[in-house]
Amino acid sequence: RRVVASGGNGTSSDVENVVIVGSGPAGYTAAIYAARANLKPVVFEGLQNGRGGQLMGTTEVENFPGFPEGITGPELMDRMRAQAERWGAELYTEDVEAVDLSSRPFTIRSGERTVRAHSVIVATGATARRLGLPSETRFWAKGISACAICDGASPLFKEKEVAVVGGGDSAAEEAVYLTKYATKVHLLVRGDKLRASKAMQERVFATPRVQVHLNTTIEDAYGNGVLQGLKTKNVSTGGVEDLGVAGLFYGIGHNPNSGLIKGQVELDEAGYVKVSHGVSTSVPGVFAAGDLHDTEWRQAITAAGSGCMAALSAERYLSSNG
Ligand code: FAD
Repeated sequence: RRVVASGGNGTSSDVENVVIVGSGPAGYTAAIYAARANLKPVVFEGLQNGRGGQLMGTTEVENFPGFPEGITGPELMDRMRAQAERWGAELYTEDVEAVDLSSRPFTIRSGERTVRAHSVIVATGATARRLGLPSETRFWAKGISACAICDGASPLFKEKEVAVVGGGDSAAEEAVYLTKYATKVHLLVRGDKLRASKAMQERVFATPRVQVHLNTTIEDAYGNGVLQGLKTKNVSTGGVEDLGVAGLFYGIGHNPNSGLIKGQVELDEAGYVKVSHGVSTSVPGVFAAGDLHDTEWRQAITAAGSGCMAALSAERYLSSNG
C-alpha cells in the first residue's frame, strides 16, 4: 500500500492513481474494483450528505440481488464500505470542496487535504426533489416516498389508495406502476395538463385505476404516526379538499449533485453529466458513475454497475496513459 506523504499544509506530494468522490453504491463499487485492481484508490465519502449515499435514508432494500430476505439500506452500505476497506481503499469521511480538472494531474481538495490524481471517478449521486410540506419530515418513509419502484410493494401501500405528485413522464410512469399494488392511484398535477409524453399519457388514461387531478397542489399531509391523507387545493377554484391516501410518492424529479464539476465537464441542460461509453466524461481520465449521470434507471444495482464500469475504465485509461 502506497504511503501518501502529507505536507504540513495537508498537501500530498504524491500523485494517486484514482480518486473517487462519493460513497453511494456507485462510489463504493468503484472503490472495490479499483482496490482489487491494485490502484489503491482514495475515496472521499462525503460528510454533509453523510457517507453511504441515498440508501442510508431508507429501511428495507428488497431488490438488491443477493439478499433474499431483504437488507436495510444502512447495512447494505456498511457492507459495501467494509468490502472496499478490506481491499485497501483509503477512505476519508470528508466533503470534496473543489476539484481542478483543467490541468494534470487533477487536483481534489477537501477541508482537510489536497490530493493529486491521474484519474477521477465522480459518483456524487442525485437528490430527489421534495415538496417541502410542513409535515414532510414526520411522514418521510412512513407514507411519503421518493421512489415508487423501491417502496411501492411495501405493506404500507398494498391494497390501499395512494397519490403520486408530478405531471411529467416519471410521475406518470410511477402512477401506472403503483396500480400493481394500490387499489387506486391519484395523480396530482399542478398544471392544467400532463407534461408527460403522448405515449405515457395514453398509458395513464388507459389505466382505470389511475385518477388524474389537474390544477391540484398539496397543502399538507396528515396522519397518526403514518400517513393517512392529504389536504389538496384546487388552484383554479381555491377549494381545499381532503384526500384519504396511505402513500404519497414524489415524481417531481431529481437534482444531480454536479455542482463540483460544473463548468469543467459537459453537463446536459438538467445538470446531469454527459457520458459516452457508459461512464466517460468530456475530460479524458474523468469518469462519472451512478445517479450523477443516470436520468432513467436510478437504482442501487444500476449505480453499482456503473461504479464497476468507471473503475474498469479508469484502470484501462491509466494503463494506456501511464
Ligand atoms: P448516492 O447514493 O446518491 O450517493 C452519492 C454520494 O456522494 C453520497 O455518499 C454523498 O455523500 C456523496 N457526495 C455528494 N457530494 C459530495 C462531495 N462534494 N464530496 C464528497 N462526497 C460527496 N434503489 C434501489 O435499488 N432499491 C431501493 O430499495 C431503493 N430505495 C431508495 C429509497 C430512497 C428513500 C431513495 C432516496 C432512493 C432509493 N433507491 C433505491 C435509489 C438508490 O438509493 C440510488 O439509485 C443510489 O443510491 C444511487 O447511488 P449513487 O452511488 O449514484 O449515489
